[in-house]
Amino acid sequence: MKPWEEVDVPTLTSGIQIPNIYLTNSRSGSKELLPEKSLYRIYVCGITPYDATHLGHAATYLTFDLIIRLLRARKAEVNYVQNITDIDDPLLERAQRDGVDWRELAHSQISLFTNDMVNLRVIPPTHYVGAVEAIPLVIDSIERLNAQNSVYAIEEDLYFINSSESDFGGLSHLSEAQMQTMFSERGGNPTLTGKVNPLDCLVWMSQREGEPGWPSPFGTGRPGWHIECTAIALEYLKPADDQSELIDIQGGGSDLIFPHHEMCRSQSRVLTGKELASSYVHAGMIGLGGEKMSKSKGNLVLVSTLVSQGVDPMAIRYALMSDHYRRDRMWSDELLRDSQLAVQRLRLALLQERVHETSRVISEIIAALSDDLNTPLVISVVNSWVDLTLEGSSGGDAKVFAKTLDTLLGIKF
Ligand code: ZN
Repeated sequence: MKPWEEVDVPTLTSGIQIPNIYLTNSRSGSKELLPEKSLYRIYVCGITPYDATHLGHAATYLTFDLIIRLLRARKAEVNYVQNITDIDDPLLERAQRDGVDWRELAHSQISLFTNDMVNLRVIPPTHYVGAVEAIPLVIDSIERLNAQNSVYAIEEDLYFINSSESDFGGLSHLSEAQMQTMFSERGGNPTLTGKVNPLDCLVWMSQREGEPGWPSPFGTGRPGWHIECTAIALEYLKPADDQSELIDIQGGGSDLIFPHHEMCRSQSRVLTGKELASSYVHAGMIGLGGEKMSKSKGNLVLVSTLVSQGVDPMAIRYALMSDHYRRDRMWSDELLRDSQLAVQRLRLALLQERVHETSRVISEIIAALSDDLNTPLVISVVNSWVDLTLEGSSGGDAKVFAKTLDTLLGIKF
């Protein structure tokens, strides 16, 4: 699938250095140094295109956008892969409910999503891969799992045996009982008759009546979600033989830690004998009115709606950066209003002939970003600079400052 249009990211002004980068690894629960490399392999789980992009999605993709900006500013190459689950139960259910063709629904929602990403100036993935186009890769992965006796059939559906893997649960650190509960809540079927282990996950679903299917050596059907991401990540990120982990970062929203990322990790370990990622990075959930934003609660705030109401996408970026990426947090009209005002003042400050000192402020911004993307501190440093500039302080370089905000924060006017 063609990624959305490239975002122009200027190179940092010479002399500005990016120090070591620390990120919280969900597997260890600690902030860890990201080793310095010339090439980073990053996989971020994409959307299932059946409903519009809400601010929770935007916050997740913005998080990885900031990481990629930092890495590129260090002159590292980033191979960034994102999938799009363009065939799955929720998509088929929604298409049936609305009486539309599932392909048309997916197409229209992908187009809304990519529009939002372009408006928010989110860097596109290097490879943007749909589940349908990845079916041959999925079939190959299932065959390789099967060759290791890690797959079995229940009727004509195929399941992956998580119990064949020694460290299952090593990412989420949940108890067996917690995993079973969450698995059940999040689309799994732990009590299905015929399962070897309640937590075994579906890798190939045989074609159901009235649903699409693709031919495979195991019969006509469609891929399971977890194996889709595993197969795409291992193919498009081309893991290096000489490294103990296959990729550098697997990322997504924190609701993907279990079961999705735990399953992908387990499948990758069985397929290759290696740990999937050096670092598992997860963004918190965005809520509204005290509850998590979700389709089922009907409390979604859509990026496209805000933009159509005339909200500057830069104010949305600013608002999402005003809290830490890992925190579950609330969206509010007040937050948006404050961010719109802050962005207007920043724009005005950047137009001043004389601006407050910038080199120390830029160092503070970079230090905060490198420390597990401490964007609340970044926003507070930028706001102070704006205050001082509008109070008449001088000694800085507005052009260098504007360029740095563009390069590292994706804020451009
Ligand atoms: Zn995924």
